[in-house]
Amino acid sequence: SEFVKEEFRRGTLRSKTVEDILTPLKDCFMLPSTAVLDFTTMSEIMQSGYTRVPVYEEERSNIVEILYVKDLALVDPADCTPMTTITKFYNHPLHFVFNDTKLDAMLEEFKKGNSHLAIVQRVNNEGEGDPFYEVLGLVTLEDVIEEIIKSEILDE
Ligand code: ADP
Repeated sequence: SEFVKEEFRRGTLRSKTVEDILTPLKDCFMLPSTAVLDFTTMSEIMQSGYTRVPVYEEERSNIVEILYVKDLALVDPADCTPMTTITKFYNHPLHFVFNDTKLDAMLEEFKKGNSHLAIVQRVNNEGEGDPFYEVLGLVTLEDVIEEIIKSEILDE
């Protein structure tokens, strides 16, 4: 029945976490903050096919900004504009969530905000040193919706 379906969907969203569905950091298309928006870089961004590109400083785990492909509309590759000129101008907020965030909570967060992309981090306290935040990857509204659709197909 519709009621059973709804309960099944809710169950999936309540039990699964963003860590279960994220795109791992190693698979993320990102650029360093030192990048220059020349022809090569702009082609790379276009060819990636993604609409949002996290920008990191020094290490890929240190995401500091996010570039939206639409920010490039007025950028002329011949000007070789530094990445940071554009990211500082648009200054899109970064949204961080913890790895154990349940999908129902994530869906609510996405509904409230307008970025529909979050960077997933966890507290790493495995080593000898102080605990630190470790970035695991990114999750988008699309990933959550995919999970809902999968659960509905399994339920058929
Ligand atoms: P887009 O609008 O860029 O296609 P979506 O939000 O539709 O992104 O997400 C599609 C899939 O791509 C999701 O699995 C998401 O985690 C992943 N994704 C989004 N941005 C990136 C990126 N910069 N690098 C790697 N994967 C990404």
